[in-house]
Amino acid sequence: MAEPTQIAELVSLAALTPHTTELVLRPVERPLSFKAGQWISLQLPIGDHPPLNRAYSLAEPPSETGHLTLVFDHVPGGKGSGYLSSLKPGDRIPVSGPYGHFVLPDSKPQHLLLIGRYSGLVPLRCMLRSLAGQGSLPSSTLIAQAPTTSEQLYHEEFMTLAASQSSFRYLPFVSESPENNAETMDVIKQIAGNGRQVTPMIAGVKAFARPLRALLMELGLDRREVKLETYD
Ligand SMILES: Cc1cc2nc3c(=O)[nH]c(=O)nc-3n(C[C@H](O)[C@H](O)[C@H](O)COP(=O)(O)OP(=O)(O)OC[C@H]3O[C@@H](n4cnc5c(N)ncnc54)[C@H](O)[C@@H]3O)c2cc1C
Repeated sequence: MAEPTQIAELVSLAALTPHTTELVLRPVERPLSFKAGQWISLQLPIGDHPPLNRAYSLAEPPSETGHLTLVFDHVPGGKGSGYLSSLKPGDRIPVSGPYGHFVLPDSKPQHLLLIGRYSGLVPLRCMLRSLAGQGSLPSSTLIAQAPTTSEQLYHEEFMTLAASQSSFRYLPFVSESPENNAETMDVIKQIAGNGRQVTPMIAGVKAFARPLRALLMELGLDRREVKLETYD
């Protein structure tokens, strides 16, 4: 259940790629418990009618520090992401949450198919870290799309995970536009075609996520079986 709004203090801000930033917040009043895949809302003191509410997925599972790790991409001219980039350690922001149902299934899936584009990888990374923290990963594939090679979020981390966990496959692709999904679609057909049992979870902007859900439905999955987290 979502907690009431409270103040969080900015602990750190660090570049992950040339156009993405990791932001670590510390809730000041009480710890916030959440599940991997969920998001929080930041109430930013900007815009024509402040606050401007912006949602950000949690990038790290809950930890003893109680810190909340978020990652955002710098939207050109974006009010929310522009404001977040200007923050300094010690600055304070009202936050609420956690929210969302984009979480791992309760029972072990036959094959977990995680598909994300760019900052859409954030909740998927949180899930993978949560699963890895519990021991070995279930049979799983991560299809990760980035706009350029220099913007491949968590690329090294996912490579290392795939090298250490034989049940996990990491398939990175680069595509400038979220609509240009031909390679991703081919791989999805290979993995989910011929009636194979998969649990798909897709995150990113609608132009990326929706055609992939449509493809999975063409391959025989029910709409409700395809979990989607769209950002715009
Ligand atoms: C449930 C949920 C979780 C989210 N989690 C994250 C997250 O972990 N990291 C993150 O960077 N963003 C996330 N977002 C998006 C975030 O809330 C903001 O919409 C985003 O930062 C853009 O806000 P802005 O004010 O800077 O841009 P705006 O001025 O609102 O411009 C938005 C436009 O920028 C484009 N755009 C480019 N990148 C994004 C993006 N990442 N999200 C939305 N629109 C984008 C879209 O085409 C859209 O039309 C999430 C959104 C939702 C609904």
